[in-house]
Amino acid sequence: MAQVTRMSKLMIKTLRDDPADAEVLSHKLLVRAGYVRRTAAGVWSWLPLGLKVLSNVERIVREEMDAVGAQEVLLPALLPKEPYEATGRWEEYGAELFRLKDRRGADYLLGPTHEEIFTQLVKDQCSSYKDLPVILYQIQTKYRDEARPRAGVLRGREFLMKDSYSFDTADEGLAESYALHRAAYQKIFERLGLDYRICAATAGAMGGSKSEEFLAPAAAGEDTFADCPNCDYAANTEAITYPLKPVDADGVPAVEELDTPDTPTIETLAAHLGVEASETLKNLLVKVDGEIVAIGVPGDREVDMDKVEAHFAPAAVELVTAEDFEGRDDLVRGYVGPQGLEKVTYLADPRIAPGTSWITGANKEGKHAKNVVAGRDFEVDGYVDVVVVQEGDPCPSCGTGLKLDRAIEIGHIFQLGRKYADAFQLDVLGQNGKPVRVTMGSYGIGVSRAVAALAEQSADDKGLCWAAEVAPADVHVVAAGKAAQIELALEVSELLKEKGLRVLVDDRAGVSPGVKFTDAELIGVPKILVAGRRTAEGIVELKDRRTGEREELLVAEAVARLA
Ligand code: ATP
Ligand code: MG
Ligand code: MG
Ligand code: MG
Repeated sequence: MAQVTRMSKLMIKTLRDDPADAEVLSHKLLVRAGYVRRTAAGVWSWLPLGLKVLSNVERIVREEMDAVGAQEVLLPALLPKEPYEATGRWEEYGAELFRLKDRRGADYLLGPTHEEIFTQLVKDQCSSYKDLPVILYQIQTKYRDEARPRAGVLRGREFLMKDSYSFDTADEGLAESYALHRAAYQKIFERLGLDYRICAATAGAMGGSKSEEFLAPAAAGEDTFADCPNCDYAANTEAITYPLKPVDADGVPAVEELDTPDTPTIETLAAHLGVEASETLKNLLVKVDGEIVAIGVPGDREVDMDKVEAHFAPAAVELVTAEDFEGRDDLVRGYVGPQGLEKVTYLADPRIAPGTSWITGANKEGKHAKNVVAGRDFEVDGYVDVVVVQEGDPCPSCGTGLKLDRAIEIGHIFQLGRKYADAFQLDVLGQNGKPVRVTMGSYGIGVSRAVAALAEQSADDKGLCWAAEVAPADVHVVAAGKAAQIELALEVSELLKEKGLRVLVDDRAGVSPGVKFTDAELIGVPKILVAGRRTAEGIVELKDRRTGEREELLVAEAVARLA
């Protein structure tokens, strides 16, 4: 919307120095340029210019969601415990969930994501196949008690997300809703001017089957993605799995025998490795046939060596200490259970440079049995879901060496399937009069995070540098001088406004041109128009923020050029 914002009246305080606690570029610049202000760890206030950018991102997201027929709603952030208990996420979410009690002692949470509540909503509102498919979305504040809220709005504990949810009666319908989102996201991120890749991803806490992430390459990113230079394969390294290892007839992986006749005990293994038994227990990696098949680093749970041995006996097992892994032990947390690797989560450390890989893994899907022995009590048809992806490892699709890079997760789309519909018995009446279980998708965009991602990707050594559609203004008019310059600057601003442009005008009296230029470059509006030395002749200077190219023009020419 066309408007003139006068800096003489604007609440803005720019800073010359980086805030002491800021580690990433977007954090430094958004604070210095007066876009955001820290209120508590991971909790941010949006100031006038910041809010303009945030609203622009929101508008673009909204327009593209509306364009695929999604309906906007707004659900609460304060939520009752029961729905999240029904799906198990009240517990599963762990320390990341903000839990609270009301005055009567009833449990509540601050919503980290809303699958449960949307499922209940649709159960209440839709009863027939005729009511579906439906896609609902909201742009809403989310709460996650992040372990490392250190990167400014890139990782808030309170942040703005666009979350949408699709409801279909058939799998093909879900695939279609998913494809609609994928296409809408491509449009959104292109309009935002973000460089991004669509990467294969794991479903994580969401559950479900197919999932892809939209990753924006940036040094500050906390994800690592593998890109194939030869084919179109791209994946979050978390999601890369190589084919499972074959097993022999007894369901035991074919491995070289260790030079020990007995079931290896922790002592024999330690002796084999020439390490202290305790040391081995503390940090161990299990290799079968030269391949790492399990990792156990005590996190919330202890590694249970009896189970490891039961699982691998009588196969030979080689334990490798974490030293072989060069410090990556601090990135992994998990335990080895009856099925070998039962659970490993990973902690990505943002300080790790590009090219560093980490470890992830999963147990054999769906098989959760206690104290059983693989191959004896249940069938084993393969093992190794554990992968350590390194730069140059073979692309799972074509075999070419993979390239690794850091990136910011700006969006994530999931085919959830019937997990949530099952939890709430979400059925609609089908065409044949019988109830049909609904299948769902869920889709997120980090709206506030996108602002930081944009800052990361577009900033230069002078400051922020916004793409036109998200910039807080179209033109930054600078009055580089006294009364005459201020007068001309305000005049030009009105002319630009009449042409439908959004103008930020630096009409501050008593502020030197040097300070104004520095601020203009820091704030990052794409076009800068200066009323300076040649004001008396009606000549202004038009400057491109990104290229630095400048040109002297008559006011009318400059206005025509910008309109
Ligand atoms: P991350 O891996 O960065 O923690 P996530 O996978 O937990 O993100 P999702 O549950 O997939 O996040 O949420 C959807 C989107 O919300 C993410 O793709 C991301 O853009 C955004 N998002 C998630 N957590 C945060 C946060 N703490 N601050 C800002 N945006 C976030
Ligand atoms: Mg997360
Ligand atoms: Mg993620
Ligand atoms: Mg995600």
